[in-house]
Amino acid sequence: MKNVKTWNQSVVKKGNKTIVLETIIESFPISRAKIANRTGLNKGTVSSLVQELLDEKLIDESGPGESSGGRRPVMLLFNEVAGYSIGIDIGVNYLLGVLTDLQGNICNEHLVKFSNLSYEEIKSKLFDTIDLLTSSAPSSPYGIIGIGIGVPGIVSNDGKIVLAPNLGWVNIDLQSTLQKKYDVPIIIDNEANAGAYGEKRFGVGKEFSDIIYVSIGIGIGVGLILNGELYKGNNGFSGELGHMTIEVHGENCRCGSKGCWELYASEQALLNKAKQLEITVPNNEETSLEYLLTLAEDGHKDAIQLFDKIGEYIGIGIKNIFNTFNPEQVIIGNRIAVAEKWIKEPIHKRLINQTLWPHQENLQLNFSELSTHSTALGIAAYSIENFLDSNLKSKSETIS
Ligand SMILES: [Zn+2]
Repeated sequence: MKNVKTWNQSVVKKGNKTIVLETIIESFPISRAKIANRTGLNKGTVSSLVQELLDEKLIDESGPGESSGGRRPVMLLFNEVAGYSIGIDIGVNYLLGVLTDLQGNICNEHLVKFSNLSYEEIKSKLFDTIDLLTSSAPSSPYGIIGIGIGVPGIVSNDGKIVLAPNLGWVNIDLQSTLQKKYDVPIIIDNEANAGAYGEKRFGVGKEFSDIIYVSIGIGIGVGLILNGELYKGNNGFSGELGHMTIEVHGENCRCGSKGCWELYASEQALLNKAKQLEITVPNNEETSLEYLLTLAEDGHKDAIQLFDKIGEYIGIGIKNIFNTFNPEQVIIGNRIAVAEKWIKEPIHKRLINQTLWPHQENLQLNFSELSTHSTALGIAAYSIENFLDSNLKSKSETIS
């Protein structure tokens, strides 16, 4: 019996400290009395938990807050600069790294563009980016609290990159490699999972709990938030919907299958079609999404039709996912989000005409506002959550 009681006390303690910190993070500056009021915890408990958080430098005290006549209370603030998180989005032709504080505010960022690099070459750019961001972090009690990497491929639940077809990576253990070099927690996940989380935390997904996030760049990845939580499937394989078949006798894909969605609805598909139509670019440069957008703005019929066709294919894929999961919201993110003006209508048309009728009425279709930063911010936020979690747990275990 004694053991059970001890275990219960420890659980209660953990829970309360988390609640106090979460209350401060949500609504600082806030007084001790207000925390007690809002959480229903008694003042003594709040005071001792606040003292622990102050000792751990996770929160700060500031000058007096608003007075309601009597003595002015001391206000508590979340110490968002107690540590910094690094989030990296490895794309097929770029690498974007951000350094954020514990609130997810971007303090520094670094973008590298490339094409057709080997794993070793990308790894060296990754190390350079991590080193650059680390050295730019202001000094703080906890320093770098974690490094997160989003990759365009299948990542197993233990962080191994099983397959990233557009990078040509098979069975890569990037996590162990990074763990050997950097003495902080390392998280690796699919870029669309991280992007979905970024949108839920900081973007257009804040108000929703069932979200399909479709990340469209050179390839397509899909992240699912179900009941407010990231859905990763049994083996973390849920993000590979870019390779669902939409044309049975379609083109060959790098994944080994045929007629995959991303062959028809990605940025790469758009660029391939533009080449076939011989849309020429001045100065013999490669055609680009940005160039096609300027053509569309100038009324170039072929360019407008290309976006229309891509939008239609995006809509077909989303419809399939939509009918399976019946989410509240669909978010289009990553590079293609900048083409909203040209692809929104054809996507919408496909969904309205073909989605099973009971689902249509509440359909919420949004384009990402974080756009190219969803993945890097999302994966940086994972690390922050893990850091706060493990910090609260380890402290309360030693106390109980
Ligand atoms: Zn494929």
